[in-house]
Amino acid sequence: MGENEVAGKFEDRTLVCMDCGRSFTFTSGEQEFYALKGFANEPKRCPDCRDRKKQARFGQDSREERQMYTATCAACGGPAEVPFMPNSDRPVYCSNCFAKIRSDGHDDNKSSHGRYSNY
Ligand SMILES: [Zn+2]
Ligand SMILES: [Zn+2]
Repeated sequence: MGENEVAGKFEDRTLVCMDCGRSFTFTSGEQEFYALKGFANEPKRCPDCRDRKKQARFGQDSREERQMYTATCAACGGPAEVPFMPNSDRPVYCSNCFAKIRSDGHDDNKSSHGRYSNY
């Protein structure tokens, strides 16, 4: 029935994590997955450390790579810091003016208390 082809191709192996030094199991399923993906190298870290590494890097990157650009606010003329490259097609606003403009724009749909409370 060809059971030899499926079973025994991969065996659970015990590897040592290069980060924490603990041994972990490189399961046959994972080996199969690696082979399928064409990964030549076996994992060097235990799943815990891999997760930690991924999360740490993710957190750092999103913070570090968020480069701020300085532009001139189109409304008040003050310095405006924006997380994107200022584009001449679009006016750039400082956070104060941006908040003001945004709340003005949404006022009609939601609550217009602020604007019409005086009439
Ligand atoms: Zn580890
Ligand atoms: Zn402004």
